[in-house]
Amino acid sequence: MTDYKKLDQEVTELSDVIWDMASNVWDFAELSYEEFKSSALESAVLAKHGFSITHRGLSGLETSWVAEWGTGKPVVGYLVEFDALPGLGNDTVPTQTPAKNGNTNGHGCGHNLIGSSSIGAAIALKRHMEKEGINGTIRVIGCPAEEALNGKNYMVSSGIFDDLDVCLHNHPAMVNSALNFHSTASVDLLIEWKGISSHAGTSPWEGRSALHAAEIFLMSANMMREQMEPTGRLHYQILNGGAAVNVIPDYAKVLVRYRGKSAENVRKYKLWLEDMAKGASLSTQTTETVTNLGGIYDLLPNDALAEGITEHMRRYLPIDWTEEEQEFAKSIQREMNKPEDGLSTTVMNVPYGVEVGGSSDVGDVSWKVPTMGVMFASWPQHIPPHQWGCTACNGMSIGRKAGLQAAHVMAAQGLEIMTNPDLLKKATAEFISNKNNQEYVSLNDSNENPRGILNDEQLTNYDCCLHSALEHFGLDENYHRHAHCKHD
Ligand SMILES: [Zn+2]
Ligand SMILES: [Zn+2]
Repeated sequence: MTDYKKLDQEVTELSDVIWDMASNVWDFAELSYEEFKSSALESAVLAKHGFSITHRGLSGLETSWVAEWGTGKPVVGYLVEFDALPGLGNDTVPTQTPAKNGNTNGHGCGHNLIGSSSIGAAIALKRHMEKEGINGTIRVIGCPAEEALNGKNYMVSSGIFDDLDVCLHNHPAMVNSALNFHSTASVDLLIEWKGISSHAGTSPWEGRSALHAAEIFLMSANMMREQMEPTGRLHYQILNGGAAVNVIPDYAKVLVRYRGKSAENVRKYKLWLEDMAKGASLSTQTTETVTNLGGIYDLLPNDALAEGITEHMRRYLPIDWTEEEQEFAKSIQREMNKPEDGLSTTVMNVPYGVEVGGSSDVGDVSWKVPTMGVMFASWPQHIPPHQWGCTACNGMSIGRKAGLQAAHVMAAQGLEIMTNPDLLKKATAEFISNKNNQEYVSLNDSNENPRGILNDEQLTNYDCCLHSALEHFGLDENYHRHAHCKHD
């Protein structure tokens, strides 16, 4: 039985480092693909604590990076996320109030705690392994654009997950539980139709309506629902339906997301949707372009790892919240018309065989390597993520305490994988059996995320952020990645 006391001490000593990252990233609150300051800061902290930054800008995602320490097997991965959401900026008060710094983006999904907990755990584990002479490699992977659901699924193509033995991740939530769920696979298709514009009153016969094509497509897609398995999900957004009522629109644009229980199922319905887009063009004498923005795999559960992580969670959670913190949480619940029972004070039993309708870009990672996550309560019960109340909690003592305990769990699970070959064997065997001889073939059309491409101004901005962060810690990694930075 591994003694975790010394490791716990390492994590506790890092509590200020962990909160410094979390609170700064909370303040920055940067959107997907543009997490310049957050990505720069968190990679610089790892470099400062002896990790080598082995990659930056993987798979067309500029703000991604890989930091590594150690040698040989096992290789344990820690996932980092850092993007915020638009419109969720909030002060650290239990009412919907703009953030003091005026930033309207906010960490309503708590990704400010994800990076700090993973990085805190990785640094603590490194220190412990150094002192105790434990062999193994720790790889921390900075993953942008989780909220755009298109980060890790592209990064998988770079091969950085291929030689991992286990990959660990964490996510703030309203409950404490192992993330042992089977989520849906999904694909995002952007469909554009080109027609002919014309005056809708004087010469409609000369026009060909792209909007009609979009309407026929959506009608067909909605009819397809009858033939979908109960686990399928279909959502769409009309992004462009014409500019004026008296003009036959020559352009229309629809974003459609299909989710299904497996990548194979998604591939099947993706083809059907593509056929419908073509059919809509034929009926309206327009032409269509279908762009695959990216697809993600279903998340594979791993009971062996979930059992391990739940055991560790029970040692560090639930948190002994103060009365003020519970009051803060109850006020948010009151504001949102939810039961006023405050923050969770339990750890859930291991969830077995649970299917969820949502999707996560961790899915692709879970098809490459046995993967498990910690979900930890950092906002009130009954409040799903992506709300102002979550932003408020993630920037104050509730988030600070929750993130620290998550770091303890992540570090402990990492050490167990480094030192307990039986657990590794069990987790690997389960991973192989869950994959059931199915080969992983990305649902993306390319290895580089087309939406990750940044313009010159953005690249300059990121270079400057990297420069400042590295300089702050007295480091001199070659930050002139694009020779854009105007610093000397
Ligand atoms: Zn999230
Ligand atoms: Zn989210």
